[in-house]
Amino acid sequence: VNVAVLKETQPHERRVALVPSVVPKLVKLGAKLHMQAGAGNAIKLADAAFKDVTFMADRKELVADADVVLAVQPPALEVINQMKEGAILISFIYANREPALVQLLLDKKITCFAMERVPRITRAQAMDALSSQSALAGYYAVQLGATTLGRVLPKITTAAGAIGPAKVLVMGLGVAGLEALATAHRLGAVTEGYDVRPETQEQALSLGATFVETGIDARGKGGYARELTVDEKAKVAVVLTRHIQAADLVITTAAIPGRVAPKLISKEQVAGMKAGAVIVDLSADGGGNCEDTRPGETAHIGQVTILAPLNVPSLLGEDASELYSKNQYNLLALMMKDNVVKIDWDDEILAKTVLTHAGEMKSEAVTPHAT
Ligand code: NAD
Repeated sequence: VNVAVLKETQPHERRVALVPSVVPKLVKLGAKLHMQAGAGNAIKLADAAFKDVTFMADRKELVADADVVLAVQPPALEVINQMKEGAILISFIYANREPALVQLLLDKKITCFAMERVPRITRAQAMDALSSQSALAGYYAVQLGATTLGRVLPKITTAAGAIGPAKVLVMGLGVAGLEALATAHRLGAVTEGYDVRPETQEQALSLGATFVETGIDARGKGGYARELTVDEKAKVAVVLTRHIQAADLVITTAAIPGRVAPKLISKEQVAGMKAGAVIVDLSADGGGNCEDTRPGETAHIGQVTILAPLNVPSLLGEDASELYSKNQYNLLALMMKDNVVKIDWDDEILAKTVLTHAGEMKSEAVTPHAT
């Protein structure tokens, strides 16, 4: 089976879909590995670091012979045009944002597995790239916030006196939010978590945090949250204001599948925050959780700083690539054996992750949000 790994082309994308430690595992499945020259350069992985991989400078040639193409971001239309009819593509796709790409996948009868569609079930955890990438983003949000704050996170005692710990509020306790709570706790901050799914209360407590009770239950489909009603939003705002205004660092991660990110922090709430407070908005890719967020930029609103980095996993490109490559390997291992690709459509993971196959749309074009 010829497997081709693309060099990512989207601006600021540093990840690569294959790392050296995963090569022997894929070879064992029967893969003949080819990579685009320089594919790992952005994370300082020279081509020479990969054993048993053939590097090709010409992307057209690389793709034309491939039975399976691996990538992180949705590939350029030109790449799909260069693929063999009926070949397999595995990458993040976000079909609702990529109508032209989806049409081409159908026209070329590509079997496309979209990484963001991997179901959030226990058996699929090893393939779940949304989770692996979100965990890194949650960790990194705390680091970014900590280095932007003009104060420390833990309690520090000196001969001149003690400094109390910082207060960190994390809003949205999915994978990223829980990792942010855990990281802030490890760094010695006093932590609080908030979410609209009640089961997150216990998870927050287990990470040493307190939970902001709002009395809302907004559990939606598949373990995700639903949008709050206008009344619910007003009700939670009253409770949240106190907590937002007591925090030194606020990390927001809230998302609703297929929707723009919900606004959890209003301009008025920002105006009432402590001088020197910092917000790290991890939902910037989806438009942001704060009314003052400027995706991809840092906003200074009065004495408050709002960071809204885009594609945060890519900022930790080495670890993000390592985990992503393992996620893709685990997915491939479900359909590849003894040098043959055989897709069992009764396998729930493959059936739910596939987007297009043999010229047909296999699932709705509404996909979960970006991370
Ligand atoms: P996500 O990125 O979709 O959303 C982040 C968080 O924002 C969620 O916890 C959501 O409840 C919260 N949120 C949405 N609207 C909000 C609002 N108005 N106010 C406050 N919070 C709000 O979440 P995710 O990290 O992708 O996780 C989604 C679900 O999948 C979770 O239930 C998670 O536990 C589950 N999951 C399960 C597995 C598994 O294998 N069993 C693996 C990963 C994730």
